[in-house]
Amino acid sequence: STQLVWLRHDLRVMDNPALYDASQHGPVTAVVTLTPKQWQQHDRAPVQVDLLLRHLKTLQQALGDSGISLKVCQVDDFAAVPEALLALARQLKITHLRFNDQYEWDERIRDDAVETAFQAAGYSVHRYLDQTLFAPGQLLTGQGDYYTVFTPFYKRWLSRLLEVDLTPLPAPNHQSGPVEHDPLPTQLPGWESPIASTLWPAGCEHALARLDHFVDEHLINYDTQRDLPAVEGTSTLSPYLALGAVSIRQCLQAVMAHTQGQVPTGKDGPGRWVAELVWREFYRHIMAGFPRVCRYRAFKTETERLSWREDPEGLSRWQAGQTGFPLVDAAMRQLVQTGWMHNRLRMLTAMFLSKHLLIDWRLGEQFFMQHLVDGDLAANNGGWQWAASTGTDAAPYFRLFNPYRQSERFDLQGEFIRKFIPELHSLSNKSIHQPPTSQCDQLNYPHPCVDLKEARDRVMHAFDAIKVEK
Ligand code: FAD
Repeated sequence: STQLVWLRHDLRVMDNPALYDASQHGPVTAVVTLTPKQWQQHDRAPVQVDLLLRHLKTLQQALGDSGISLKVCQVDDFAAVPEALLALARQLKITHLRFNDQYEWDERIRDDAVETAFQAAGYSVHRYLDQTLFAPGQLLTGQGDYYTVFTPFYKRWLSRLLEVDLTPLPAPNHQSGPVEHDPLPTQLPGWESPIASTLWPAGCEHALARLDHFVDEHLINYDTQRDLPAVEGTSTLSPYLALGAVSIRQCLQAVMAHTQGQVPTGKDGPGRWVAELVWREFYRHIMAGFPRVCRYRAFKTETERLSWREDPEGLSRWQAGQTGFPLVDAAMRQLVQTGWMHNRLRMLTAMFLSKHLLIDWRLGEQFFMQHLVDGDLAANNGGWQWAASTGTDAAPYFRLFNPYRQSERFDLQGEFIRKFIPELHSLSNKSIHQPPTSQCDQLNYPHPCVDLKEARDRVMHAFDAIKVEK
């Protein structure tokens, strides 16, 4: 038999279920599909596409070392994928198509269409679980429903861990066929990234080195350092997890090497980090169980009646890091300048837009996707809906992070603010969180775009209104 492995968000040679299984069965060719028009519709960020293209180069090399060619199908969008893959399959005379599952709505439609087309043409199709330890639908409540709250999901996840083989799969068997790669584009027109590629080095080796560095140096202090944006306290693995350059099993194995072979469950550094990986799984299950969240719908459907404000100026000040709230602005500038934002600040800026400015969370979700190197529909949508109190585990609607208090708590010395807002460099550690209005003009820094008390009353009123209507 001859095998075609379709690589998607699982762009690695090691611990790749579809690739490994294919390599047990016969000569293997791998393929990636590039769909720029679809990416545009999905608001994919140029910085992420840039990382993807550079990563594919390294992957091609690694596949070649295993005797596997990487073919490239470039088409406009997902609708064109089945025909393009079928044409390749015919040309290569393959018998089996194998790929690892994805759970986003459009991706599932695409994958089902590919499967149907291949089966109709007489090929055998095999799909694998890869992105999460448990497939969506495998962890359900006693009533047979998807979990809609994180903590019980997490407990069930932990209680069923023994059923899962956490050992990463080895490299695929070496293939003997001649290696005939397709050329890979280094750039796609319109997708040039303004962010220096050195910021996000490509390749699985780099991703694994980042993982090792994190578990060796920072895992132990993750619980105390993870909320401090000026500190290197988190793994920054998210861009690599999003591409599949590193797998969930590889992450857990690296942790377990430090915890006597156990998956840590406590509230200490290792336990907290594993819990974050479970949040990643949780939002994937939510996306599969409640596909409306992929389609611009609120998880809590009653919140669709909220009267969001039309405020193009507020939106553009938020996007540009010019709200007049230093930590919010520093965070937004970090996003635009680096393609990444610290988790504490994602929560703060998302709440600021959706609560303090009462602007529709979907506009923020979109802006994040357009700029994040780790843009991931499940995590991004989950995070936004959490912040806006429209989602699972939603922060109660009356909970608003005070941007000044958050700043004093998590950026005490103003170190992070100074890094991204040079205008405020000269302010003292005390006044940098809330620059005196008398100095704003002189510093060329904007006055606050909203009064916090009025903003709070406004959002309370908006949520109260939909409660009454219920
Ligand atoms: P670490 O703290 O080292 O965590 C390890 C990994 O766990 C992360 O790489 C990520 O894969 C996963 N993870 C951590 N926190 C979460 C979480 N809250 N939800 C889901 N997975 C999590 N994460 C993305 O990967 N892509 C996104 O597009 C994204 N958008 C977000 C938008 C908002 C409004 C919010 C509040 C959060 C968002 N997150 C997103 C989750 C989280 O902020 C990032 O995963 C994290 O900041 C990445 O940094 P890290 O790799 O250093 O994380």
